[in-house]
Amino acid sequence: MTTEVAQAGVAESGVAAETIRAGYEAFKARGLKLNLTRGKPAPAQLDLSAELLALPGAADYMAEGVTDIRNYGGLQGLAEARRLFAGLMGAPAEQVIVANNASLALMHDTVVYALLKGTCDSEKPWSQQGEIAFLCPVPGYDRHFRICEDYGIRMIPVAMNADGPDMDEVERLAAGDASIRGIWCVPKYSNPTGAVYSDAVVERLAGMKTAAADFRIYWDNAYAVHHLTEEKVEIANILEACARQGHANRAYVFASTSKITLAGSGLALFASSKDNVKWLTARMTPRTIGPDKVNQLRHVRFLKDEAGITALMERQRALIAPKFEKVLEIFDEKLSDVAGVSWTRPKGGYFISLDVPPGCAKRVIELAKAAGVELTPAGATHPLGKDPEDRTIRIAPSFPELEEVALAAEGVAVCVKLTVEEKGQQ
Ligand code: PLP
Repeated sequence: MTTEVAQAGVAESGVAAETIRAGYEAFKARGLKLNLTRGKPAPAQLDLSAELLALPGAADYMAEGVTDIRNYGGLQGLAEARRLFAGLMGAPAEQVIVANNASLALMHDTVVYALLKGTCDSEKPWSQQGEIAFLCPVPGYDRHFRICEDYGIRMIPVAMNADGPDMDEVERLAAGDASIRGIWCVPKYSNPTGAVYSDAVVERLAGMKTAAADFRIYWDNAYAVHHLTEEKVEIANILEACARQGHANRAYVFASTSKITLAGSGLALFASSKDNVKWLTARMTPRTIGPDKVNQLRHVRFLKDEAGITALMERQRALIAPKFEKVLEIFDEKLSDVAGVSWTRPKGGYFISLDVPPGCAKRVIELAKAAGVELTPAGATHPLGKDPEDRTIRIAPSFPELEEVALAAEGVAVCVKLTVEEKGQQ
């Protein structure tokens, strides 16, 4: 390269840098206040279930089997509610527990019960067995990691691929270390990458050797019916795979209606082997006399059957998919030519995962905040809030209106460009 050409290149890049900074300042000057932090349903999505607020009605309080839903009892949940969700959970109704809102509470409680009492396969409570560790596919869901953090469970990050966690690593770790008692899995449309576990990964998880006899897979199928495209992705049945492989008690399956009906007033769902269901109901016995069966009956009346769930999720998709498409369209347009930047194209779920060059995520989020766009804190997708490469940003486009989502995505793109430009100058 001649000196003149090199100088012209520097001058050109100086102009480009100025343009990027000016773009950022102009965006900031708009004084916007946008929020892409949490995967919350938008009010219009909640409106789809407005009818729930009037159900089951003053005269409708007898569930099948003549259970008066207003009274105590029915620890495992109403039979018709367990039947309604049996397909979604991939288990017979007798092996389903329908609980109050928040599947996270069930995940929390099953960890705590294992610590205090042991699982049905434990010799002693986990808390009496020295160090306990969980495998944590990363990037992953911050609230899973928070449960481990709160109870002193060591978290071992494992890389997450497009078809599930790095199974060579999972098998190696689980087989070699008896302190490892569990793994967090979001098998379909995972939080935050949208990854879907392949049949081969499911089979390997079910069949792998574990040094701990009471190893548990925390199978958080939070996005089981939350499709964003025409394609309704299906995954292999973990409970059946575990049973076939001779590890019937290995998986705890969780889901909820939080993002089917009302996020704050949904139903939490658990399914597992007969022994695990017996174990969990025994653990729940001193805690409660029974769940909120009024909410269960109103969900049964409202959703009716699996076709009812499917139809509602189609209406959810019509509201939420355009927001994802908008973010992807803007990223495609603005970020395709930025080296080291990539993002996922989920077929379902609630998140897009944006990867920026190493060492850039915190700065992007800082710049976005200063310009009025609130993003999930850097590192939230990793144990203890620490992303060692500082490169993953979780984008949650569900809550704001479409126009706001578009503005926020533009803002994120500007901040990514400016960060990469700054980094290049260092
Ligand atoms: N699991 C995953 C993977 C999630 O992303 C979320 C919410 O964002 C939850 C669980 C929370 O579910 P629930 O409302 O049933 O507690």
